[in-house]
Amino acid sequence: MSRKGQIPEPTSRFYIVKCPECDNDTQIVFGWSTIVVKCDVCEKPLLKPTGGKAEILGEIVSELD
Ligand SMILES: [Zn+2]
Repeated sequence: MSRKGQIPEPTSRFYIVKCPECDNDTQIVFGWSTIVVKCDVCEKPLLKPTGGKAEILGEIVSELD
């Protein structure tokens, strides 16, 4: 874990992700989330925290700024 005085990329980035399991395509996730985000409908994980930018497990429908 290295946290030096490095300027990170913008952190206010949200995505609308489509759940591959139930086709719920209205789920908004934070791209830098530090917690697992689950689908509201079927609770399938849609995002996995990595310590930096999170790994999005579903299909990205659109990006929000
Ligand atoms: Zn789902």
